[in-house]
Amino acid sequence: MNNSIETCSRCLYPESHPLGLVFDEDGVCSGCRVHEEKDHLDWVPRFERLTTIANQYRSRSGTRFDCVVPVSGARDSYFIVDVVKNRLGLNPLLVSYNRHYNTAVGHRNLAHLRTVFDCDYLQFTLSPATVVALARYTLQRAGSFHWHAIAGQTVWPVQVAVRYRIPLIVWGAHQGVDQVGMFSHLDEVEMSRWYRKNHDLMGFEPEDIVSEKDDLPERELTGLFYPSDMELSQVGVRGIYLNNFIRWDTKAQHEEMIREFGYETAPQQRTFDRYNDIDCAHYSGAHDKIKYIKHGFGKARDHACREIRFGRLSRTEAAATVARFEEAPTTDDDNLLNWLGLDSGTFWSLIERHRSKKVWRTEGGRPVRLFSDEKPDEAVRKNALKQTGPCEFQETKERGTDQVPYRLFARGFVS
Ligand SMILES: [Zn+2]
Repeated sequence: MNNSIETCSRCLYPESHPLGLVFDEDGVCSGCRVHEEKDHLDWVPRFERLTTIANQYRSRSGTRFDCVVPVSGARDSYFIVDVVKNRLGLNPLLVSYNRHYNTAVGHRNLAHLRTVFDCDYLQFTLSPATVVALARYTLQRAGSFHWHAIAGQTVWPVQVAVRYRIPLIVWGAHQGVDQVGMFSHLDEVEMSRWYRKNHDLMGFEPEDIVSEKDDLPERELTGLFYPSDMELSQVGVRGIYLNNFIRWDTKAQHEEMIREFGYETAPQQRTFDRYNDIDCAHYSGAHDKIKYIKHGFGKARDHACREIRFGRLSRTEAAATVARFEEAPTTDDDNLLNWLGLDSGTFWSLIERHRSKKVWRTEGGRPVRLFSDEKPDEAVRKNALKQTGPCEFQETKERGTDQVPYRLFARGFVS
């Protein structure tokens, strides 16, 4: 077993994590340390701070939206809207970017969300040909067909904020805080173009592509362009993250939303979390296999690290679960290749070009990962948290399909 890359003594993240991690003298990562704040901070005054911010943006006349809330058919959308509308009493305009490869349960959850919370909603759907051209281009450039979706999700709310002159955008969790501890909760980090470009979008923006690609002209991509500093400052746009003000526990939050509002769950191909990205046909399939090839780990590891930090999984249990999912086969490849118009050989050789040389070495013609989940028992025991388990994810039946006799919309294109 080759261990030349350190892993955390508490969770399972390697120091090669693409968002960046630092380890302290106990061998515990910054993500785990910032996570400890969830149990040390007093969240009552933090929620009061959130209420104070909300009050600054509440429309006195009641004639306009108070904030923009990005949503999808999964990932804490119900919880975020419940906080914004029911707990803060704001009038939100919900917005979403159509990634094109949506699942039935995702459509159902999004339609049901708009219905049960009774909100206005705006969706952006980029032209199908442009999305495919962009997916093929970013596959080559960055080993990602899903880049367009991240670009769209992170900019459509900002464009709407500018266009409708709604200065406040309310996001859920900031990944840099929740996953790797890049910032403390107390930093109250806000949305920025810098973070989007350098972390979400791997260092380049849609604006950078138009000069390089003849088949992706500017007029096709303006839907993904970030508003200018002048436009942002004229409206005073700012984006806040709820996980700086609420003790963020996505598993518990989804379970509350299942009980209270009929959120639906779905089993996933390559992770045990049945709640988070179930609206995407590829996120826990081919997209996750790509993530594993590039960085040496997939979503199962992200989810396992989170569950270790909440004390719902031991490091040993988590490592066994992760090993099983990192080897799991995928069933969505054919659909994806068909959509991209690529054969399997071409597709996977493009991905191979982006296999991280930091994380993998070739031995005997096979890739060997340069970190392992094995750790001395003593280090693991010393840094282990009190177990609060179990770590079980609920499976809902599609209750909603009986109650909603029609779908408000289906996938974003017709093939
Ligand atoms: Zn850790």
